[in-house]
Amino acid sequence: MGSRAAEQRQEARQLAARLSAEGVRNVALTWVDNAGIARVKTIPAERLAAAAERGIGMSPVFDVFTSDDAITASDHLGGPDGDLRLFPDLERVTTLAAQPGWAWAPADRYDQLGLPHPACQRQFARRMTERAAAAGLELRMGFETEWVVTRAPADHPSATGTDEPLDYPCTGPAYGMTRVVELSDYLRDVTEALSVQGIDVLQLHPEYAPGQFEVTTAPAGPVRAADDVVLVRETIRAVSVRHGLRASFAPSVVAGQVGNGCHLHLSLYRDGTSLHRTPDAPWGLAPDASAFLGGILGALPALLAIGCPSPASYLRLQPSHWAGVYQCWGVENREAALRLITGAPDDPDGGHAEVKTFDAAANPYLAVGAVIAAGLHGIESATRLPEPQTGDPGVLGVRERARRGIVRLPATLTEAADRLEKSAPLYEAMGEVLHGAVLAVRRAEEAHFAESEDDAIAAATRWRW
Ligand code: GLU
Ligand code: MG
Repeated sequence: MGSRAAEQRQEARQLAARLSAEGVRNVALTWVDNAGIARVKTIPAERLAAAAERGIGMSPVFDVFTSDDAITASDHLGGPDGDLRLFPDLERVTTLAAQPGWAWAPADRYDQLGLPHPACQRQFARRMTERAAAAGLELRMGFETEWVVTRAPADHPSATGTDEPLDYPCTGPAYGMTRVVELSDYLRDVTEALSVQGIDVLQLHPEYAPGQFEVTTAPAGPVRAADDVVLVRETIRAVSVRHGLRASFAPSVVAGQVGNGCHLHLSLYRDGTSLHRTPDAPWGLAPDASAFLGGILGALPALLAIGCPSPASYLRLQPSHWAGVYQCWGVENREAALRLITGAPDDPDGGHAEVKTFDAAANPYLAVGAVIAAGLHGIESATRLPEPQTGDPGVLGVRERARRGIVRLPATLTEAADRLEKSAPLYEAMGEVLHGAVLAVRRAEEAHFAESEDDAIAAATRWRW
């Protein structure tokens, strides 16, 4: 133990020397709160070794912060007392390409005695990954990042005004090359910054809504995938600022329009072999993969309180908007909440699944951890996927949907939070403290926006994520 600590100290010192040689002055240590906001403490680069050893103080009250920076309380958390320690993950320290002189590291949260903080979302994601590993399963995951870019108002570059008209820097059609031409320097800088930071970009394209783009990055282990999406988002934000632009990752930038999703892709492996490529199995799914996906499908109403955590999320969740609002799955069906992607038959890594419903207000660590917990519960309870759905369930009549057994996922945060409250597997996986804090934040968000019109909810949350 002592030698491990000495090794770590040595590693941290070497890292600090490397950062200093790269001109890094400051390191941003982020963690994501239950409202999906990346909160931060920053340290001078030369403090990194000390931070890795003893952590950096931060109040536990942030576990019950809401997206508007109000503070609520759960049975276990809230109030001014106590302190936690943020420990940077030295393996993820990354020099930031679009913030010269800065580096970033995700942080784990411990108490002052060095015990894991029970509401630490990143450790929850790690625990669930280990639980899957104990069942012989390895997961690869990746988030899609969608965002809307606007010009920053010249007079208030950092304004977070809620009623300003949106000034789009591109006018081209959805998915149109025109948008790429109009913003070619910006988009090049986004991909360059990501790749310099070690993020493997798979694709970048204009999306449907005005000013909307999407970037997809290579899959990784669950914790790394959650770290990656934080880094991707903050990098896009930083490049945007340098171009006089602003990036919104909010679920609903303009109420009534197509919103920003943050779909979660996942694939399962056992002993290095994909469980999505099983010869002679329906859709290539090994029984465990079918059970795992069945577990996710069954838990989706409760998972919405994790993956769609804001009242603004429910403005995005409209039928026929490719957001997946019905509790069904389909093969390559972009209107199914759970989409199976079979890929080309000769692509060994092609097969995977996508939870379409989630958005970027979600804490990605909670999202990966909760999805794994739901999937493992599916295996334990020998769940099987029902028949897949083809076509858009949103265009079917009520009777036809009922005949096919397709139900609408929760249409409000209240309904989703009620389902999370009653979910025994998610309660067990998250533990009382984390589960309670998440629910307290959901209830506070609901109450805050209870009387608000859709436009006001979208405007108030537009620049929060
Ligand atoms: N923007 C859509 C959403 O709200 C998703 C479009 C797509 O399938 O990538 O999730
Ligand atoms: Mg998309």
